[in-house]
Amino acid sequence: MRVTRNNRLYQFTFMMPNFFPVSCYFVEEEDELTLIDAALPHSLKGIMKTAAQIGKPITRIVLTHAHNDHLGALDGLKSKLPDSKVYISERDAKLLKGDATLEPQEHQTPIKGRVPKPGKFMTKPDVLLNDGDRIRSLTAVSSPGHTPGSMSFHDTRSGALLAGDAFQTQGGLAVSGRMKLLFPFPAMATWSKETSVSSARKLLELKPTLLAVGHGAMLEHPQQAVAHAIAEAEKALHDSAGK
Ligand SMILES: [Zn+2]
Repeated sequence: MRVTRNNRLYQFTFMMPNFFPVSCYFVEEEDELTLIDAALPHSLKGIMKTAAQIGKPITRIVLTHAHNDHLGALDGLKSKLPDSKVYISERDAKLLKGDATLEPQEHQTPIKGRVPKPGKFMTKPDVLLNDGDRIRSLTAVSSPGHTPGSMSFHDTRSGALLAGDAFQTQGGLAVSGRMKLLFPFPAMATWSKETSVSSARKLLELKPTLLAVGHGAMLEHPQQAVAHAIAEAEKALHDSAGK
């Protein structure tokens, strides 16, 4: 495990086999910590130890989306922190329960990636999030595409954006769904590329000062690179539509 700090944000990076990095984050508030995503089952120990070192309690576990590599330590954390509240988007709460059916108004293409099987997780969310909801310093921003209910979180103090898998930085910055040969896994796990691109545009409008994602290093001053990645993803969509 590696912990990288940027101001009030702590990035945990855990390595899966095949150099597959998985990150989760602490967002530090005055008197408590919000955990963004729950990484892998073995991440529990490092998360708890780091909270003890910082000396603040983890009071919230906020999930960007319901893929297994973002949920691994969820049950372990909840049993160690029974008073913590678990947040996920209303839409991906259905996926967390193991129901991968689509809603009628959604892009009718199968949900991809490692989605929990029914009964895999005991933990039930306490709060179902919708676009614009506040969680202390964070604003929830609905950013579907990777999954139908993917959420990003914008820190209103610093402008940092925790985007889950809406973007990746491992293997080069890319919008979710855009294949990077050095790290193709998030693209392979993306539900709707078209929806991802519209969400990426919406996220860029927030003018993030830092981009923090599920797979790859944090990126400071990301706006220009994000605009470039969006243009690249749009071009790929047009090219494939023209074929
Ligand atoms: Zn994912």
